[in-house]
Order: sequence, then structure tokens, then C-alpha cells
Amino acid sequence: MDKPPIVLSKSKFLEGLQCPKLLWYEYNRKKDLPGIDAATQAVFDEGRRVGEWAQKLYPDGIRIERDFDPQRQSQKSIEALKLRQPLFEAGFVYNRAYALADILVPVENDAWDLVEVKSSTQLKDEHYADAAFQKYTYEGAGLKIRGCYLMHINNEYVRRGGIEPAKLFTKENITAEAEHRQKTVAQEINSMLEVIAAREMPDVKVGPQCSSPRDCQLEDICWSFLPDKDHIFILYRAGKFRYELLDRGILNIAEIPPEELNEKQALQVRSHQTGEAHIDRAALNEFLKQISYPVYFLDFETIAPAVPVYDNSRPYQEVPFQYSLDVVEKEGAEPVHYEYLAPGDVDPRPEVLKQLKERLGEAGSIIAYYAPFEIKVIKNAAEVYRDYLPWSDAVQKRFVDLLEPFKNFVYYHPGQEGSASLKRVLPAITGSSYQGLEISNGQVAAAEYYRVTFNDVDEKDRQKVRAALLKYCDLDSRGMIEVLRSLRQQAVK
Ligand code: SF4
Repeated sequence: MDKPPIVLSKSKFLEGLQCPKLLWYEYNRKKDLPGIDAATQAVFDEGRRVGEWAQKLYPDGIRIERDFDPQRQSQKSIEALKLRQPLFEAGFVYNRAYALADILVPVENDAWDLVEVKSSTQLKDEHYADAAFQKYTYEGAGLKIRGCYLMHINNEYVRRGGIEPAKLFTKENITAEAEHRQKTVAQEINSMLEVIAAREMPDVKVGPQCSSPRDCQLEDICWSFLPDKDHIFILYRAGKFRYELLDRGILNIAEIPPEELNEKQALQVRSHQTGEAHIDRAALNEFLKQISYPVYFLDFETIAPAVPVYDNSRPYQEVPFQYSLDVVEKEGAEPVHYEYLAPGDVDPRPEVLKQLKERLGEAGSIIAYYAPFEIKVIKNAAEVYRDYLPWSDAVQKRFVDLLEPFKNFVYYHPGQEGSASLKRVLPAITGSSYQGLEISNGQVAAAEYYRVTFNDVDEKDRQKVRAALLKYCDLDSRGMIEVLRSLRQQAVK
């Protein structure tokens, strides 16, 4: 039996716009695509939650149960159109294009408004292509589309009591942009179908499209031609210059003509060539001089969901659910460790503020890695729990940012591979590492905390995640102690 012709869904159309090679893989070598990681799954889950809240704005809406087969989904949706009620996930096929509408709203003269729901807080170019593909498909399938709207998150909304979907979302009319963008959709679909049908994958060079509008899943495959070490993409703040070098066949930073490097890049290249750290001892000593005992090493983990889970918080506002604090009373003293991981049933901010006010004392430096983040978290929490405002104002002045010497090239170790993040700096200069941890970055920490706190999960799973979170956050604060110790040793050499 002949295979049914391929129909191009909206998500594949958008992938095709990002890169034809990615599209080809989706249809010809799907098995080589990596699975979805925890952080990506969290983004999908959040999108689903946002969509469900948007649907509440249409209480008489009807959900069309998803059918795997586009033709069957289309038949069900055509039937549902007769009801003239808002429809969720109605899907239509036209000329080998297939689109599911988040919400179709009946309007006058038998027409419909198309409403797409997004978790973002503003309009993006890709939203116009998205709406254009849908409008093209629905109109081709015989629907009269009056307008296209994008419903996105309103980041000014503050939760007070239950979620108010009418305030949580902002609805923008993008009909004109979608109509303009629609003109090239048919042509684009045809080109994509040709790409999919080709035996050979398209020859596409790596480029900015690999991370825009989103990180491509094929990066591990397409970028594997780069040398394992010292490749041009680790060059400090090199932007488009890296692609120019690639076009010239330069892959290793050592091959870049020295006169084309700026001062920091030259320091970096020299450090990789010699295998030695670059240290500006005068500047490093200046940095170290500002640190006074007792020294507090503080690290927060936060959640920032699109739909706020606590009263008096906004969409995407960072709310601390965990901190790790190590206190070193005086030079040479052993650190004393404190930690807190919120149970999640109530807003954790009052407890975090109360504990930190006690534990951070009145004097001494508070060290954080990228301190503006920790400062902002405390400030935002104190703006809600206003009794803490005077304390928050005072404590902010005591922060010292341990990122500074690395960001400013006061210290650079070749093991950092061009990055100043603690995840790179810690192993490079101390040998400690995040490898082997079940949770090894802040994004996954937030996603996992949300998953086991606000969903109905097995108790064993919850406890396992909570134990992994404690280990991860602990390494961030302990890691800062090690990094500072190492900087001090090297400053006096
Ligand atoms: S990694 Fe880049 S070149 Fe490779 S498929 Fe993805 S976008 Fe295309």
C-alpha cells in the first residue's frame, strides 16, 4: 500500500524556517535526534499550563480531542465548526499543510478569529510566521478568518488570590502582520516538502540559526567538526567574528592572526597556548581587599513560572525556594553550613528572609557568583514583605560579586574555555566538578522543584529530587569558598 503523502505541521514548518537540515532530519533520520531533556520538557509543560489558563477565558469552549491522524482530526474539526462555539485545538489540513489552532473564536458573518497562546511576554518575529501558516491553512480549508490574535503573558500582572486569566494575558491583534507574512507561505511549504523528499540531507553550514530562535537539537552532530579544545567558538565576546573565521577555514584560536584579536582575546589565546592562567595580580589584590570577615557565601535557587504560584508575585518573577549559605568567621576557620529547601505549600519568601536576616548578621562580606541576581531576589522579596525593606537595603551593600575577576579577565584559566560561569571556573581552578550530580544546573533545579512540588508525584521521587537539590545548591556555595581560596593563594604567589 502507498504511504499517505507527508503533511507539514506548524511545528515542522517553524523548524524548516530555522534550518532545512533540521527539517530533513525530522523526517529522514528521526532516530538520530536526541531525546528531550528535563529543561526542555519543563518548557513544554509550562506551555501546556499557560494554554489551559487561556482556555478559561472561553468558558463555553469545546476541546477537540487530539487524533494522531491529521485527516481524522480535520474531519472532527469540520463537524465542530457547525456548533459556532469557541474551539480548542481544532485542526485542518490544506494542500499538505496541517495546523491546530489554540483557540478559534466564532465571530460575525460566519467568520472566525484565530487566537494563538504563547508563554512569552512579548511578540516575536516567529509568532507572525506561526499565525501566517495557520491562516493560510485554515483559509485553504474553507474557513473565513477575520482576525489573528496573539495572547501572551502580561508580566505586569500580580497574582492576588486565584489566577485571573483576563489579567494574566495580553491579547494583541496581529492580523496585518500575519497577512503580510502569509504571501510567502505556499512557496515555503513547497520548498520544505522538496527538502523532506530529497535523499541527501541539505548542505547547511552552522551559523547563528543554530541557536535562534531556539537552540537546535542537532548541535552535537553539526558542530562535531570543531576541535575538542581551543576552538574559535570559545573566543571571548567574538560574536560574528567567529563565523568569519570559520569561513576562512580557521578552527583553532591559535591560528587567528594576533593583530585581529582585542586585548582580552589576546590574553585568552596566550593563556591557551602556554597552558598557564593569566593573572593580573594588582587587580586581583584590589578585588580581594574589599572582602571582610565574617564571609558569607550565599547561593539561591529560584522558580519563575509564567503563571505565578504565590500571591504577590508576577509572571516570571524569581521566587527563592532554596538557599545554601556557608559562613567563614575568620581567616583559616572551617565554614559553617546552613541550608533551606522550602516545602512549597506556602510562599517561601517570608521564611527565607527571616532566616537570612538572622544568619547574615550585621557585618561582613556576602559573596555570590553574579551577585546582582541574589540582590534582586532579596530586594523583590522585601518589596512584598516590607518589614524587611530596611534590612534588605543594608544587606545589599555588603555583596561582593565573585564573578567580577573572571568576567573582567583579572583571572583567566585555559580550563574555563572562554566561559566565566562557576560551572567552568570551579573545575578549571580547583579540580572540583558538577559532574555526576543528578541536578547540575539551575534550570533543571527549578524545573525539578516545580515538578515535585506542584504536581502529584510519587513520594520517593519527591524525596530523591529534594536530596539532589540540596547537593546541587550546596556545591554552588562550597564551590565559591574553593574558588576564593584559590584566588587568594594565587594572588600572593
Ligand atoms: S545545528 Fe545548526 S546547521 Fe545543524 S541542523 Fe541545527 S540549525 Fe541546522
